[in-house]
Amino acid sequence: MAYTDLIRERFFPHIWCPGCGHGVVLNSLLHVVDELGLDPRSMCMISGIGCSARISGYVNFHTMHTMHGRALPCATGIKMSKPELNVIVPMGDGDAMAIGGNHFIHACRRNIDLTAIVLNNRIYGMTGGQYSPLSGRGILATTAPYGSIDNDFDTVSLAKGAGASFVARTTAFHVKEMAKILKKAINHKGFSAVEVMVQCPTYFGRKNKMGGAIDLLKSYRDNTAPLGSKKLEENPELIPRGIFVDEERPEYCEEYANVIAQANEE
Ligand code: SF4
Repeated sequence: MAYTDLIRERFFPHIWCPGCGHGVVLNSLLHVVDELGLDPRSMCMISGIGCSARISGYVNFHTMHTMHGRALPCATGIKMSKPELNVIVPMGDGDAMAIGGNHFIHACRRNIDLTAIVLNNRIYGMTGGQYSPLSGRGILATTAPYGSIDNDFDTVSLAKGAGASFVARTTAFHVKEMAKILKKAINHKGFSAVEVMVQCPTYFGRKNKMGGAIDLLKSYRDNTAPLGSKKLEENPELIPRGIFVDEERPEYCEEYANVIAQANEE
């Protein structure tokens, strides 16, 4: 299938800044949908608000651009009424972990068959560079001109603790790895949480004097390491990448169908 069948050309050029990491994720996702031979009509993408949430405007799937932080509950409703759809939910770190944090943990707990992609650029890009729950201590933002004093948390640990049956992390630098992980996440029966570290050169890189897109991409190369690698063993301070959880557990829509069948028998 041609890529042009998977995108809405009429909405291009996209709104992202030059060097933004979101286009890398969009490209990877389209590549995976193409490789898996998925019919665009079987695909559904639900997003909230933010730069990453704009992805849903560019794909030629069933799409819904919903409220800030509420992409997962909307996706849950759609999946429960049409379980045959492949439902993908791209979210920014603010969208997924701040206002949408509660929805995230409950989607993990329920193990509903959605693919949640948390595009972590450690900043609110669309609204002008406010710090997010994933920014971390000492990070400069328009709302933290002297450095954030909030501790960040780890999306992977949160998803694992909340019970997601597929949990992975990759970065915009590791494009082949990203495609492999997204492919597994889409094929996984249950809730898949994939964190992708993506660069925001405009607000995160510039404000924190970390350079442009290339510098940020190099920082993903240098500051992360694959799970089980020698590099990680030698330097446990590095951020681990890879698949942390991949387990078969009862899926929510199937469980719900069983409840309906049971009720109909009575
Ligand atoms: S503000 Fe940042 S996240 Fe938003 S489009 Fe620009 S580079 Fe990307």
